[in-house]
Amino acid sequence: MSDDAPRTLITGGAGFLGSHLCERFLAEGHEVICMDNFITGTPDNVGHLIGDDNFELVKHDVTTYVHVKGDLDYVLHFASPASPKDYLEYPIQTMKVGALGTHKTLGLAKEKDARFLLASTSEVYGDPLVHPQPEDYWGNVNPVGKRGVYDEAKRFAEALAMAYQRYHGIETRIVRIFNTYGPRMRLDDGRALPTFMGQALRGEPLTVYGDGSQTRSFCYVEDLVEGIWRLLRSEEREPVNIGNTDEITILEFAEEIIRLTGTDSEITHEELPADDPKVRKPSTAKAREKLDWEATVSREDGLQHTLDYFEEQLRTAGELAA
Ligand code: NAD
Ligand code: UDP
Repeated sequence: MSDDAPRTLITGGAGFLGSHLCERFLAEGHEVICMDNFITGTPDNVGHLIGDDNFELVKHDVTTYVHVKGDLDYVLHFASPASPKDYLEYPIQTMKVGALGTHKTLGLAKEKDARFLLASTSEVYGDPLVHPQPEDYWGNVNPVGKRGVYDEAKRFAEALAMAYQRYHGIETRIVRIFNTYGPRMRLDDGRALPTFMGQALRGEPLTVYGDGSQTRSFCYVEDLVEGIWRLLRSEEREPVNIGNTDEITILEFAEEIIRLTGTDSEITHEELPADDPKVRKPSTAKAREKLDWEATVSREDGLQHTLDYFEEQLRTAGELAA
């Protein structure tokens, strides 16, 4: 282990996005401390990194005091249930990790004089009345709706990060992540993409909520990680959207996954959840200008990689023929 290697704490590091960040930061020569309480993630996501001298996995709930021995250069706060199914199942934990967890990790960054990056979300725009969503749009969020636990926790977290920046002079970065997908999502996390892929691979009907006219714009995880890497090292202190601008309706998305898998599954319609955003697409002008970043992986390629991963998962679980 080099004495000069930057040290980075990644909370939520055993989750979907966190595990990809751990890999990237190790590859960039960082020493990585992955901290997670495994509420929605699993040590399996980083199992292949254990044994690397520059990697440490720590089980800890970041809503309580966070202690890290030695110096830290970067703190990336990614801990939080993230799929609507997860945050509706863990509403209080979601609010606590967005509020108390952000407070604790900002306090740690202040103590260590580390640069802090917050994983925020397109959900801060709620059910948006401006389309596509630029960073200076303040959003349309129902604070007392069921999704409010996630949206408001992230809005609070952003406000707290800005307060630490302004009051304590901490270097903070805020990434507003738009629907990102890829290997290590959980097949049962309830999000449209793993749900549809699991259903298609098992030959079950694909459950489209509402008439499927709501839109999303799906970003492959590799693109997101590159955007985060650039933002962290940039001088941009205000929030930046990172996402793919390739917008699609959920019905078309389900049809695309049916075509890709070659299944003869049908589409069934179920009730649209309350406050489900009707449209979502990032404005990425700021990411282009400030970070020289834009998404490069096509949906076709990203979906194929992800499908290969889920097929393998189902084979290992004995649900698909070897
Ligand atoms: P995930 O559920 O796979 O990962 C979250 C991780 O945080 C899990 O490993 C979980 O166990 C951990 N965690 C939760 N509460 C914790 C706590 N109190 N202490 C320690 N660990 C805790 O979800 P993800 O998709 O990887 O999302 C990661 C982050 O990115 C979240 O903050 C989420 O809000 C944000 N985000 C993700 C997306 C996306 O499309 N994937 C979009 C917007 C924002
Ligand atoms: N959705 C769907 N069927 C499912 C799961 C989700 O039609 O089985 C819809 C959901 O209502 C939303 C969109 O797909 O309109 C994306 O949902 P997801 O949970 O992936 O993330 P969100 O963007 O809502 O956070």
